[in-house]
Amino acid sequence: MSADDKRVNLLDFDEAGLRAFFTAMGEKPFRAQQVLKWVFHQGETDINAMTDIGVALRGKLQELAEVRLPVIIDEQRSTDGTVKWLMGFNGGNAVETVYIPEPKRGTLCVSSQIGCALNCSFCSTGTQGFARNLTASEIIGQVWLAAQALGHERNGRRRITNVVMMGMGEPLLNFDAVVSAMSLMRNDLGFGFAARRVTLSTAGLVPGIYRLRETLDVALAVSLHAPVDDLRTELVPLNRKYPIAELMRACRDYVSEKHKRSVTFEYTLIDGVNDHPEHAHKLVKLLRTVPSKLNLIPFNPFPGTSYRCSSAERIAEFQEIVMRGKLIATVRKTRGEDIDAACGQLVGKVQDRTKRSARIKLQMAETGP
Ligand code: SAH
Repeated sequence: MSADDKRVNLLDFDEAGLRAFFTAMGEKPFRAQQVLKWVFHQGETDINAMTDIGVALRGKLQELAEVRLPVIIDEQRSTDGTVKWLMGFNGGNAVETVYIPEPKRGTLCVSSQIGCALNCSFCSTGTQGFARNLTASEIIGQVWLAAQALGHERNGRRRITNVVMMGMGEPLLNFDAVVSAMSLMRNDLGFGFAARRVTLSTAGLVPGIYRLRETLDVALAVSLHAPVDDLRTELVPLNRKYPIAELMRACRDYVSEKHKRSVTFEYTLIDGVNDHPEHAHKLVKLLRTVPSKLNLIPFNPFPGTSYRCSSAERIAEFQEIVMRGKLIATVRKTRGEDIDAACGQLVGKVQDRTKRSARIKLQMAETGP
């Protein structure tokens, strides 16, 4: 570890935190605004280059703090324009961040943890086990680096128009760091994204949903994947702790605010598991009680899984039933498959502390391919 690592990383603060930091230094809190503008509007991370801050203060600041970003270890570009980066941190861990360009928007999919502890049966991130939470700077740093790598504004148009916390990890299990980073995504001194353009996706951590509602205005996505508890518990074990009825209550509460919030339910379609017409009918009944949209995601296979993707006919039939039931439903186009950048395919480099990945490898070796 270098001496540098002892310095505070200014990207670990949101605006309020940075103001408090300057106040504690005996400086004026408006210095926070200056620093944020340099970092996010000018793309400047060298404190010494922040020329509207006096030389003496710059010197003092450099002794205490720095702007430290993750490192891009690898960049892969898909034939469909999707870009995937492997972003590395201290200690040999790395996560994946994905950019998905579409005709009218560009979505950045950001990771919140190194690995994931939730163990959803159909997600490859879970098979990697869990190493640790990302810090706020490591989360906002993914957005900063992606924006730089893409050339943030091209012809006056932003390449990244939306950010979704749908990469590796469960964001609500890393609440403070995720909220701090997301508040910089929203803040005009940061990236300045509108609330509906910044989405937090959760596997259904009910207390976290209530807490988020009180803390920050962002769009919410909930990974549902099944309309009944038995099946949902099989796919998302967290459902044992927070069953569907409780989850729906939290979602209704989230949208019942005065300002218009929305919930998007994500439903990964797995062949013969949750794609029966009966499931679609039950889903209609369930989601009628919450103002929401439904996002159907064709299952993306990964090494070691026995699940398969539903057929195109099954997916079309499922969508037709839910739409006849008056739900707004879209089928997510699979993107970046050729570079393993699709939903549930992100693995990064996880120094697994749960030893789960080792157990799975052992099981695979014992049962054969
Ligand atoms: N932990 C959060 C954030 C991850 S989001 C959450 O669960 O919402 C990743 C999205 O992709 C989730 O909706 C997840 O359920 C879905 N997903 C995971 N594995 C998948 C796979 N193999 N194929 C398709 N979608 C998958």
